[in-house]
Amino acid sequence: DLDVGLEPDAPRRRWAELAERIRDHQFAYYVRDAPTVSDGEYDVLLRRLGALEERYAELGLRTPESPTQLVGGTFSTEFTAVDHLERMLSLDNAFSADDVAAWAERVQSGLDGAAADTHYLCELKIDGLAIALLYRGGRLVRAATRGDGRTGEDVTNNVKTIRGIPHTLGGTNHPEEIEIRGEVFLPVEGFEALNAAQVAAGKAPFANPRNSAAGSLRQKDPRVTAGRPLQMLAHGIGAVRWPAGAPPLERQSQAYDLLAGWGIPVSTHSRVVSDLAGVTEMIEYYRVHRHDVEHELDGIVIKVDELDLQRRLGATSRAPRWAIAFKYPPEEVNTTLLDIRVNV
Ligand code: NAD
Repeated sequence: DLDVGLEPDAPRRRWAELAERIRDHQFAYYVRDAPTVSDGEYDVLLRRLGALEERYAELGLRTPESPTQLVGGTFSTEFTAVDHLERMLSLDNAFSADDVAAWAERVQSGLDGAAADTHYLCELKIDGLAIALLYRGGRLVRAATRGDGRTGEDVTNNVKTIRGIPHTLGGTNHPEEIEIRGEVFLPVEGFEALNAAQVAAGKAPFANPRNSAAGSLRQKDPRVTAGRPLQMLAHGIGAVRWPAGAPPLERQSQAYDLLAGWGIPVSTHSRVVSDLAGVTEMIEYYRVHRHDVEHELDGIVIKVDELDLQRRLGATSRAPRWAIAFKYPPEEVNTTLLDIRVNV
């Protein structure tokens, strides 16, 4: 259906229509926390846009501003806009073992074969929303949503109500400044209780845990956020300034140990493996045990654990090359719930 007729302007018009629909869906999802289509339908539109851009490459539709090239989000004027010190990116997706193997090959060729002992850090892909916590001199001075990756929303007062996020780092050897990234989510029990309460109050339930977490965090009144059982787990670091003489960090998994020592919650489910067989084992284990975890998850994130290799691989405009998100097929319950009108 990409052949949109002989009119020379037709592909361009089709692209503009599709891009506008996608941006509308992004607004509903990222700003209103109330999607109007399922994630599957949204992904189809985005893939279609990408296919149009490739099919009519000579038209130059794939500009840096295309939704296919951007971190898919924006920020609301309801909150103060704040710039991240380092850009927050999205993740590329894999849907099969072949996709994961192709990614691993790209990693190896990107490193010119000089990375014989790459380790893979496998983590659960937590179904929540990304947050950046800025600590200066060990004190939490700012918390921001991802937004468009460069600019997010200042939600510091709301984040300070989340139990488990320290206002002051414990332990020792803190950097002068550090952006700690993680996922804010509602544990399964909290999500179910919240939806039951929404329905009892005559309100529409949240479509999924991700929207319920985002809707709970992005409140004008921090007292509302304080009443929701939100949690956070760290899954990365952005900009960091170490004091002179601090020993260099070599692995991302090592960074998590440091964070844990400072009292930042990190996942107990992460594993470091040395080959793709180990990655497959993790994927297959959680395919079966997905519901034994305290939070919802929609896949496994695989990262190159060595930080120097991460730096060498770098990132595209929207995602790091050193990580990939393997996504499990969507589950019945989400699609059913998405038919219901959703609310904040
Ligand atoms: P994404 O959610 O697929 O992946 C990137 C995010 O994963 C990161 O920003 C991070 O917050 C999160 N994450 C969770 N666990 C992580 C871990 N262990 N390590 C690192 N990151 C981790 O990408 P996205 O760009 O945020 O959103 C795309 C998704 O949103 C798609 O599934 C899409 O269908 C959906 N979406 C739906 C609609 C709609 O209208 N239904 C609109 C926009 C986007």
